[in-house]
Amino acid sequence: MRMVDIIISKRNGNELTDEEIAFFVNGYTKGEIPDYQVSALMMAIYFRGMSKRETLTLTRLMADSGDLLDLSGISGIKVDKHSTGGVGDKTSLALTPIVSACGVPIAKMSGRGLGHTGGTIDKLESFDGFNVSISTEEFINNVNTNGISIMGQTADLAPADKKLYALRDVTGTVENMSLIASSIMSKKLAAGADAIVLDVKTGSGAFMKTLPDSTALATEMVEIGKGAGRKTVAVISDMDQPLGLAVGNAIEVREAIDTLNGCGPEDFTELVYTLATYMIILGGKASSEDEALSMIKEVVSNGKALDKLAAFIGSQGGNPEQVYHPELLKVSDKTVTVKAEKDGYVDHIICDRVGVSCMMLGGGRASKEDVIDLSVGIRLIKKVGDEVKKGEDLAIVYYTREEGLEDALDKLKTSYIISDTKPEKQPLIKNIIK
Ligand code: URA
Repeated sequence: MRMVDIIISKRNGNELTDEEIAFFVNGYTKGEIPDYQVSALMMAIYFRGMSKRETLTLTRLMADSGDLLDLSGISGIKVDKHSTGGVGDKTSLALTPIVSACGVPIAKMSGRGLGHTGGTIDKLESFDGFNVSISTEEFINNVNTNGISIMGQTADLAPADKKLYALRDVTGTVENMSLIASSIMSKKLAAGADAIVLDVKTGSGAFMKTLPDSTALATEMVEIGKGAGRKTVAVISDMDQPLGLAVGNAIEVREAIDTLNGCGPEDFTELVYTLATYMIILGGKASSEDEALSMIKEVVSNGKALDKLAAFIGSQGGNPEQVYHPELLKVSDKTVTVKAEKDGYVDHIICDRVGVSCMMLGGGRASKEDVIDLSVGIRLIKKVGDEVKKGEDLAIVYYTREEGLEDALDKLKTSYIISDTKPEKQPLIKNIIK
């Protein structure tokens, strides 16, 4: 088999055989096929697309290219969750303790933030002493003891995807639905869960900006999950404004804790409860949405979900006191407010600008090597649909350094679009694909 023939075949619009896909995935991972040939193939796939079979084969091969997490030492149905990323998306922090408190074991690998989106692992490090770099044995022990553990991704998780994604990033070939779906799902399959709930974001702060694109991505990922024998559900949720009110790291953890105490923002609570509902159903602990929802409400009101978070934080070296006293989580006390420049209604909030503003404060990474400041962030006072008067506070900025502050404030100010008429309320949950 020759790589050039595979490139020509795809360039001419043919379906690749499983053997041809295996040839380039394995050859590229081993360093036997050069970047320039794989770049050419990625561009051919970008224009010609892939069939369902090709996409599933590519996903499986990428998943199998490195470590496959073996969760068989944990009894019960293990349900994973994945978000396509957004601003203020602290969902896993509130969701996983709730689902675990309802009896579904949580064994989850999470990532760090990059660009305008945050990452669960960074947020968890807001707890003093919390350790995300635990061994697989400790990870499994923690799940067996506490029903929940979250660790950083192992270095060798789906290495074929790591190489291909890095190559696509610099060759203009990221934005192909099948390539994105297979890239995300390869990591999920390698992470070993029996079932997967996907939170696919749509809107200005999301990877997919339009509902048709988000729906197509969600559908493709659900098909891959099912094709690989994992029960999969996708929830499509709004990312046309930040989720909840807090954007940053420690400040988002505080908001997740508020939500576990039953007093989180309405939109965030709705999303957490919806995702939890499907995780509990796929985990076999409830047979209907109503049953799952009442279980969720119970573990929030009786404090079991909060206790679950405290046990999890404590088991990985963190300070559980910070769960019961979130004011102990370090949020900078240097603040400045952004004010409305005219009367009207918040028409929309350009979501990725809020994320970039937080990044400019030091709360996010422009490149993988950046060290982030967990204490900075933004609290939105006004959200879409709210009435504002000229001079009223739109948002509070928590900062530590003067450098770049003015630019961050400008970015945040220009993310608020004020109009004379009240916009129609948009649903948070756009669709659910089962
Ligand atoms: N996230 C991924 O992991 N892969 C993609 O291709 C796009 C987004």
